[in-house]
Amino acid sequence: MSLRLTGSLPKRLHVGRYAAFTLRWNSTVVRDPEFTSLPDIEPARLEIVKTQSPRLPPPASDLVFGHTFTDHMLTIPWSARIGWDTPKIVPYGPLSLLPSSSILHYAQTIFEGMKAYRDEKGKVMLFRPDMNMKRMNSSAQRVALPTFNGDALIHLIKELIRIDKHWIPQQTGYSLYVRPTLISTEAAIGVHPPADALLFVICSPVGPYYSKGFKPVGLYGTTEYVRAAPGGTGAYKLGVNYAPGVVAQKLAAKLGYDQNLWLYGPEHHLTEVGTMNLFVVFKTEDGSLELVTPPLDGMILPGVTRDSVLELAKGHASGQHKIPGLGDKLTVSERPVTMKEVKDASQSGRLVELFGTGTAAVISPVDRIGYLGEDVQIPTGPDGMGPVSKPIWQELVGRQIGTIPSDWSVVVTE
Ligand SMILES: *Cc1c(COP(=O)(O)O)cnc(C)c1O
Repeated sequence: MSLRLTGSLPKRLHVGRYAAFTLRWNSTVVRDPEFTSLPDIEPARLEIVKTQSPRLPPPASDLVFGHTFTDHMLTIPWSARIGWDTPKIVPYGPLSLLPSSSILHYAQTIFEGMKAYRDEKGKVMLFRPDMNMKRMNSSAQRVALPTFNGDALIHLIKELIRIDKHWIPQQTGYSLYVRPTLISTEAAIGVHPPADALLFVICSPVGPYYSKGFKPVGLYGTTEYVRAAPGGTGAYKLGVNYAPGVVAQKLAAKLGYDQNLWLYGPEHHLTEVGTMNLFVVFKTEDGSLELVTPPLDGMILPGVTRDSVLELAKGHASGQHKIPGLGDKLTVSERPVTMKEVKDASQSGRLVELFGTGTAAVISPVDRIGYLGEDVQIPTGPDGMGPVSKPIWQELVGRQIGTIPSDWSVVVTE
């Protein structure tokens, strides 16, 4: 099936859903070619309806992660017939969905998580939002939701943040968590690519994930459940990946651990920590340090924080951009790691540290892993973080809040 055939079909009126989706199934083209003739997200069409009853943001110290939302939200409907429709910024409030909406039955929902930071002078910045847009489009494609121009959505998200920027707490470590979501709204319970969808963006002021400093967490090595498998959906931020993880988390908590560690396969490969990516630091034979994270093999979520940690560590190791406080003898590897390797290194004193990475917590140090009935001990530094994560965390946070200038930081408003 070629693109030309799409073009040769009568436009709009006669390319009904059936024809469009027949093309989708047969096409080998990655970007939804059947919709490229339909309007993309158009920021110029934005309509703004401000709330009549603005609320007072609560004191920063009262914030619980993900519980408080700002006054406004962005909504952009899509349909297979007309493409992306008028973007609107409206008061935060309930969505109206029919009970037959396929999102409610088959979890056709994807999401993103990014943060906007505000410095002392009131300047607001996003961190690498282009990476989130790229990932959101790849997630959309995986569940046959519509794709879109990422720059156009960033433009609209900036507008939303500017309207609600007084919701970003000023205190260090606080930020605005931005949650773009895309759901199927088609009111039909057949399993097929949705003909209607809704993209919305909501914002939540959040505090530092660890309000009392970096408290290392204990992980339970989960062997009872798998998060992801080859050819599955682990590499995408799909709603469907998270509900089944709740019981694994519940079991970990019941056994006295903070989080679960997803182990995969007969050799118990370490994959992710709860909903974070994972890094391990080993001391090698020659006394240098090796920073390791599992490769993006289809089971690992391509985290923006993961990528940033890798970039910074690689830049340091190559001498291109030295990170203050980080030792010279560092190698960086994206390779599989097994529990046997971690356990052996722990016993022989070659395990240096182990940590999770993600937008919410940035870096989360780990001090033990419950594994097949015993605890594998993991060294932690004086304030939780170890000799590799600490300097990288300082560099990363500096770039997020703009104290260290970098092109990763995207200005929302001066
Ligand atoms: C979001 C997420 C991460 C972290 O990604 P960031 O872009 O760094 O926030 C890691 N693992 C899973 C399963 C996730 O959903």
